[in-house]
Amino acid sequence: MNQKIEFGLKLQKLLNIENIKIDEPMKKHTSFKVGGPADYLLTPESFDQLKGLISLCNSYSVPYYIIGNGTNLLVRDGGIRGVVIKLTKLNKVSVNGEYIKAECGASLNSVAKETLKYNLTGFEFASGIPGSVGGAVTMNAGAYNGEMSHIIESALVLDKDGNINTISNKDLELSYRMSAILKYNYIVLEALFKLTKGEKYKIKGRIDELTHLRKEKQPLEYASAGSTFKRPVGHFAAKLIDDCNLRGESVGDAEVSTKHTGFIINKGGASAKDILKLISIVQKSVKDKFDVDLYTEVLIIGED
Ligand SMILES: Cc1cc2nc3c(=O)[nH]c(=O)nc-3n(C[C@H](O)[C@H](O)[C@H](O)COP(=O)(O)OP(=O)(O)OC[C@H]3O[C@@H](n4cnc5c(N)ncnc54)[C@H](O)[C@@H]3O)c2cc1C
Repeated sequence: MNQKIEFGLKLQKLLNIENIKIDEPMKKHTSFKVGGPADYLLTPESFDQLKGLISLCNSYSVPYYIIGNGTNLLVRDGGIRGVVIKLTKLNKVSVNGEYIKAECGASLNSVAKETLKYNLTGFEFASGIPGSVGGAVTMNAGAYNGEMSHIIESALVLDKDGNINTISNKDLELSYRMSAILKYNYIVLEALFKLTKGEKYKIKGRIDELTHLRKEKQPLEYASAGSTFKRPVGHFAAKLIDDCNLRGESVGDAEVSTKHTGFIINKGGASAKDILKLISIVQKSVKDKFDVDLYTEVLIIGED
């Protein structure tokens, strides 16, 4: 039997049919709302299914890419060959004293809601980041003086050979938008956070304050992947971009936000190509004017 058909049949044994999508537009799974089709988009509902998928992909030499909420991704217009595994159906959250355990696909917002329910403080900074726990640990997501490295005790990870290990905070090698997960292609299954007891009204007050700040400062009314560029040492990307007079600069429907120049937004009909062209314009202008290299925080994947 043809390898492709065999692979497809084995997939159907592993997952319910509604969790298998073929030629699925990635624009439906990314906050930038761009990106061509993935050959397969799969949404496992258990760790066993996920393990089975990895081993199936390995045995048929099919490349796979893991996603959470797709809020830090720019997928090119040609899409993704092979398999995209989306983990948002693995989303249980449980609390034990000052510890909170969350599966990789839980949204940061849902974890924040649990922390509020149990009067736990320390997670407030993450409540408005639109990613999943897995994506946040991978990127060491952070905001308003907080970041994952401050609160994570350990992560349960799956490696490409199917081994499951607990990795401690130190060994996660969390630094600015970097981690051992990205470096070694691990898959985060669960994260264990250590918080402290606090007072509900203060926790809620801080979450509300940060939500308000985001609404005020960020172009949340448009599709984007958050800050497009990493913070260059000694500078702020948004200020450099503004000082190059690039506020409102556009290519097609991709635009340097007029509200926050650190964000490139999709005003509706942008392609990945438009966004990539605008990214290059910004990088070149900043390099020419300030001799500073801007690197994308957004991860760019897929084919042209
Ligand atoms: C409006 C807006 C505001 C934002 N604000 C912030 C902010 O304040 N601070 C900040 O840090 N980020 C911010 N972001 C970016 C983004 O939300 C974070 O990087 C988030 O942590 C990404 O999570 P995700 O689930 O969407 O990951 P995805 O975008 O799906 O994936 C990002 C990376 O993580 C990997 N990944 C995802 N899940 C797993 C897993 N379980 N195991 C292994 N690898 C995995 C992917 O392969 C990819 O490499 C913002 C984005 C938007 C759209």
